[in-house]
Amino acid sequence: MELNLLVLCYLIGSVTFIVGLKMLSNPASARNGNILAAAGMLIAIIGTIFLYEENGQKLGNYTWIFAALAIGSVAGTLMAKRVQMTAMPEMVSLFNGMGGACAALISVIEFRHLVHTSDVASIDQSSLLIIMLGLIIGTVSFAGSMIAWGKLNGSIKDFAFKGQHIINIVLLLMTLLLAGHNIINRPEQMELFFYGVVALALVYGIFFVLPIGGADMPVVISLLNSFTGVAAACGGFLYDNKVMLTGGILVGAAGTLLTILMCKAMNRSLQNVLIGSFGGGTTAGGATQVGGTYKEVTLSDAAVVMSYANKVMIVPGYGLAVAQAQHVCHELEKTLEAKGVEVKYAIHPVAGRMPGHMNVLLAEADVSYEKLLEMELANEEFKNTDVVLILGANDVVNPAAKSDPSSPIYGMPILEVEEAKHVIVNKRSMKPGYAGIENQLFFQPKTSMLFGDAKKALQDLLAEVRNL
Ligand code: NDP
Repeated sequence: MELNLLVLCYLIGSVTFIVGLKMLSNPASARNGNILAAAGMLIAIIGTIFLYEENGQKLGNYTWIFAALAIGSVAGTLMAKRVQMTAMPEMVSLFNGMGGACAALISVIEFRHLVHTSDVASIDQSSLLIIMLGLIIGTVSFAGSMIAWGKLNGSIKDFAFKGQHIINIVLLLMTLLLAGHNIINRPEQMELFFYGVVALALVYGIFFVLPIGGADMPVVISLLNSFTGVAAACGGFLYDNKVMLTGGILVGAAGTLLTILMCKAMNRSLQNVLIGSFGGGTTAGGATQVGGTYKEVTLSDAAVVMSYANKVMIVPGYGLAVAQAQHVCHELEKTLEAKGVEVKYAIHPVAGRMPGHMNVLLAEADVSYEKLLEMELANEEFKNTDVVLILGANDVVNPAAKSDPSSPIYGMPILEVEEAKHVIVNKRSMKPGYAGIENQLFFQPKTSMLFGDAKKALQDLLAEVRNL
């Protein structure tokens, strides 16, 4: 009876993961999808703690289990509540690293259990295979995610040396060979070799992520996320635990799909992301020098141009998130709409610093989802747009991506804002964005600069528009 109840818990958990994931694909249902999947996870965890039995014995160790749950829950809740939107990728990376470490620790515990309870030569090889897979993938994910976390918060600098990719390949081969030796030959020194595999996988994880440029970190985090999913699925195989298997496979598949989609959005192959050096943190070498004169627009002129336009397209970028100007941006949108201006938002898939950053930011300010246009649709509408208002975006509107083969962002699809009649760019200075390159758009005749922090500039612009 109890076993059936546990199976039911796992079934509920698996179904909520799938339905929750589906709901995450739409901003309107994403929040509820997250809550639903978390509730399913809670049911699976509580079910395991109280209902799981092996040889007629319950889990026990309740003090340890609940102490760990309490510490983890308090730490997780505080971190999630305090994190700035701009630091989300760091936190995702840190949490992903913890997932990888958990999966690797499961392998360590199960391995120790096997070697200490049976004769080494008689250990089941299929169990060893799954243990080794979970160990390697989980350890690489843990080490890589920690490096990605350090890079995103600025405490670890990009580091690369000549021939590093060769060393990485050698490290990976050594890890696989040692693990393979353990599985196939089951040598006497298996335990020693096992920890050798741990050490090699740790070093490989570090070296794998160290040379990758900061702008590519989200792709790497997404890839490492899929690794963690696969490592967790190995744990599911090991314990014959269906909910762990389902959860792991879903994370693995979702992470892989997101990785592919992000590479497509940047028009780059995964191989190029992993061994190329786009966004290596410094200003880009090789890009053609741009420059000339730029013109500024006053607040009152910007207010007039926008108030008398038929259609205004707002392009949000990283600067809008830094300035936390989403609410005043929504106010401006409503005020313009009240004056009969049609206002929409053009969303670039890699605007900001994490996938979906702009969607989350604007949803926080209650901007209607129907107003958000994805890049392809927005690019079709720019030619019918009177004014484009760029708020703290730079790389995602840089025409060098289309016209300058020597530019590090060449090939990345961009928002083609120069198709509109007027372009107003709000930022604080002429400094470059994430890729560290100049932007010819700022010097074009139809572009005007509106300098200042996005929040302050929008507040002042809003006051001007209201006075008209
Ligand atoms: P960018 O980083 O290219 O540019 C942001 C601009 O915002 C800067 O030029 C800066 O100029 C301006 N800015 C900063 N603070 C403020 C402020 N308070 N008020 C007004 N402006 C401000 O941003 P984009 O969104 O255009 O492009 C995103 C870039 O980040 C791409 O290169 C992408 O590949 C990369 N990336 C994307 C990730 C993702 O998943 N979305 C993750 C990590 C990187 P100034 O200093 O003059 O104000």
